[in-house]
Amino acid sequence: MSNFSTGKNEALELDRRDPLARFRERFYLLSGKIYMDGNSLGLLSKDGEESLLRVLNQWKQLGIDGWLDQDNPWFYYGEKLGAMQAPLVGAHEDEVVVTGSTTVNLHALVGTFYQPEGRRTKILADKLNFPSDIYALKSQIRIKGLGPSENLVLIKSRDRRMIEEEDIISAIERGSGEIALILLPAVYYRSGQVLDMEQLTAKAHQYGIAIGFDCSHSIGAIPHEFDRWGVDFALWCNYKHMNAGPGSTAGLYVNRKHFCRTSSLAGWWGYRKDKQFDMLLEFEQAPGVGGWQISTPQILSTAPLEGSLKIFAEAGIEKVREKSLKLTSYLMFLLETEGLTKPPYNYRIGTPKDPKRRGGHVAVEHDSAASITKVLKKRGIIPDFRPPDIIRLAPIALYNTFYETWQVVEALKEIIDGGEYEQFENVRDTIA
Ligand SMILES: *Cc1c(COP(=O)(O)O)cnc(C)c1O
Repeated sequence: MSNFSTGKNEALELDRRDPLARFRERFYLLSGKIYMDGNSLGLLSKDGEESLLRVLNQWKQLGIDGWLDQDNPWFYYGEKLGAMQAPLVGAHEDEVVVTGSTTVNLHALVGTFYQPEGRRTKILADKLNFPSDIYALKSQIRIKGLGPSENLVLIKSRDRRMIEEEDIISAIERGSGEIALILLPAVYYRSGQVLDMEQLTAKAHQYGIAIGFDCSHSIGAIPHEFDRWGVDFALWCNYKHMNAGPGSTAGLYVNRKHFCRTSSLAGWWGYRKDKQFDMLLEFEQAPGVGGWQISTPQILSTAPLEGSLKIFAEAGIEKVREKSLKLTSYLMFLLETEGLTKPPYNYRIGTPKDPKRRGGHVAVEHDSAASITKVLKKRGIIPDFRPPDIIRLAPIALYNTFYETWQVVEALKEIIDGGEYEQFENVRDTIA
């Protein structure tokens, strides 16, 4: 961290030496804005636009025959993009499929892997996960005829920012005879903390418990090694760091050792592909991860991911991670070195300093975070706000610059110096 310096010219120099700088022009940047919200909705790439337009053209020119078009058949699109996405999670090609949506995939996988039996009836999760995941877990417990209040164990945070791996491990050890399943996020949506998935997987398996991860905030931001770690299952959305568009088709991973399991939400798209159109009433699940698909894929909401995956293959996730860490380190360095974490500024950094524990964004906390977010937006800087006091800033390796990061910190300083934020109410908008 101390290798940085605070000047504007040094920021520009960092951009000149950035090996990923050329990818910025592959994206549609918002004119006159500094976009720091790629962890909520990634920007459209020209590659993503191209793959979407190709699919639209197939529809225009082929109609129904698009499903079995020679070059790019939609019939195999979920499997094809799954194979392209597999390197981002360290999986075999037949272990990843692009399908459905995040919360639906969570239901499909938890339904499969949560098999309460005897005293083992509990799901272990945590209090800082994204609410949708918790709603889904409670409903999965109810579907099995059990009560969420007794069977959903939520690990508490010590500081409202992080969940210590140590605390997860002691919860596993304490409840080992009663826990049937563990579901955790890979990166926390508020603080950006990364969990040590390898260590937690090993610990879960030591007690014979299946473990899955929601990678919505980690996919496209950090590398994963699911196969090597032996993770049982995972799921993620593709509209955050993956840049595949609002509500784009999501992804899921099932470890090969579980291909013998049956999907809990069967549908004809999970049928053996060679026999799917025999239209038999007896379900025969596809042999790989494809068996967890449910419905006809939303081809138009899937297509931008193809272009995006080409960019990731070209840039390399290791390089993306390296630059991302450098950007977030630089952001935190500027905040501290410019005195913004002291009076009268009083910003707080709510993200781990240790690069191993830090995902792709920085949580900057402030008592007036909601009104400061509004001033940032008025100034053309797009962060997002998470209650009660977090301004999330995500400098994205593929399209943000060090100079933009420098400008954002300058703005955070000026907003306090000029008292601008005091003109705005400290409450959030409907979509923050
Ligand atoms: C973004 C996100 C979701 C979103 O769920 P959808 O079903 O896509 O609306 C769910 N869980 C986590 C952890 C997320 O970060």
